[in-house]
Order: sequence, then structure tokens, then C-alpha cells
Amino acid sequence: MRTVHTLKELRAMLRSYRQQGKRIGLVPTMGHLHEGHISLVRKAREAADIVVTTIFVNPMQFGITEDLDTYPRTLQEDQDRLDAAGSTLVFAPSNEEIYPQGLARQTRVVVPEVSEGHCGASRPGHFEGVATVVTMLFNMVQPDIAVFGEKDYQQLAVIRKLTRDLMIPVEVIGSPTVREDDGLAKSSRNSFLTEEQRAIAPVIYRTLKNTAEQIRKGRNDFVTLEKEANEALSEAGLRPDYFNIANSLTLKPASAEDTELTLLVAAFLGTTRLIDNLSISR
Ligand code: AMP
Repeated sequence: MRTVHTLKELRAMLRSYRQQGKRIGLVPTMGHLHEGHISLVRKAREAADIVVTTIFVNPMQFGITEDLDTYPRTLQEDQDRLDAAGSTLVFAPSNEEIYPQGLARQTRVVVPEVSEGHCGASRPGHFEGVATVVTMLFNMVQPDIAVFGEKDYQQLAVIRKLTRDLMIPVEVIGSPTVREDDGLAKSSRNSFLTEEQRAIAPVIYRTLKNTAEQIRKGRNDFVTLEKEANEALSEAGLRPDYFNIANSLTLKPASAEDTELTLLVAAFLGTTRLIDNLSISR
């Protein structure tokens, strides 16, 4: 496995793979890799001959008060894990390589509707940053397929929409959330948790499951269910940002007639913000 840091090197490598008729898969990440990321690489490997994993902590998707500076950066360990998982190439560019003119002068991609609400409401500009960098990565790598985690459900919806709307010829594949034994969704940010916070964190998934169970039993009073879920999170010592019951496709608030629902949650433990979601059919 090779690691390259510049677009020039990336393009040279990709040119040679393409000449050999290889099918190219892309897995974008921000690094500090765990089993969740690795599952995406394995899935990409099943659908493509070459897997390009990108490691880039994208400054455009972080708000000014967010954890850009402290976000864990562990390139050497990441490379070892990716090599073992079957990644062919790692692209780990600098900020200057991706945004040579700086963020303020960068053309941006705005995805309406699915970007609004949920994390879009709490993190203004976040999905604009995600959509912009993912569009750029699609153009840089020109993959046949790209794999993203369902862990970031709204992000996946944003990427599916931008791919369709901008007619980018890539197949976007969603991959299920990988969890710890106690249900906590694996996340690079879990390493920020103290022992005490880590013990509380599984309440997020437990609350998703409890709420899903209530809906399966026939409850349709979604606003009350959301309130109860927020209370359960608060009682456990979390600070809920939102707990929303949405239509799985539009991500708009669910109505009693909807059959495909997604429960989306974001909550703070100390300064660490964790997200999770659960989809149900009924
Ligand atoms: P990140 O490095 O957090 O930007 O995530 C990179 C990719 O890995 C995104 O497509 C995420 O949705 C995905 N991902 C993160 N955590 C998990 C997880 N626990 N299970 C599956 N995919 C994940």
C-alpha cells in the first residue's frame, strides 16, 4: 500500500490503475481509524479492484468553536490498519493541497433540504463543508464506487443527493454502523470520553432502541416520544442536542402515515458531541 500527499502523485497512480482497467473504490475519512472505517474499506474492496482511502480532517466542515485543532491525527497507525484491510492507496493531503486559495475563496457546494435540520441546524455550514470536499474528492479520484457509513445518516443523504443532482458518475454505497459490544457506535471522538462518560455513552443507542420499540408497538405521538427520549438522555447525564423522528427519505419530521422512519440523535458528554441513528420500517 502506498501513501501519497499530493494531487499530482494521486493522479499519476490512478492513471496507471485505469490503464490496467481496474475498478476504483473511494473511502473518504478524517483518520483515527476504527473498525467502522475498516468495514467501509472491506466493503469497497468487494466492489472494486483498487481502494483509495482518503485521510483529511476537512477544516471547512468544522465550526469555529468545534474540535478541529484537537481532532485526533494518527496517520502511522491508520496506514497500518488500512494496509491490513486491503486498501491500495492512501491519499493524505495537507490543507494547502486541497484549499490552495484558502477557505474564503473556495467554490462551495450547497445541498438544499436534506442538509437542513438535525446536524445541519446545530452545525451551520457543516454540510456545505462536507458536500464541497466530497465533490472535490469525487473529482480528484473519479471513483466507480464510494462507500460511506450509515452512522452519519444525514451526511449519507446529502452525498446521495449531491451525486444525483450534479450527475456525478459514481455509485454511492451505504454501509451499516459498526458498534461496540455495549451498542455505542464506534467513533473517532469516543477516544475523547473519560471512563465515566464512556460508561454513560451506551444510553444513546439504548434510547434509540427503546423509542423504536414504542413506535413498533403503535405509538404515533412523535413529539412526545422525542421529548421522552431527550429526558432519558438528560437523566443519564448526557446533554441532548436533538432527538428527532424523521421520514427516512426526506429527513423531514415524520408523519403518522410514514412507513420508513429514521430516529436521529446528537448528544454531548462533556464537550464531546456524539451522534447515532436507527431506521425502522413499519
Ligand atoms: P469520519 O472519519 O468520522 O469522517 O468517517 C469517515 C466515514 O466512516 C464516514 O462515511 C462515516 O460514516 C464512516 N463511519 C464512521 N463511524 C462509523 C461506524 N461506527 N460504522 C460505520 N461507518 C462509520
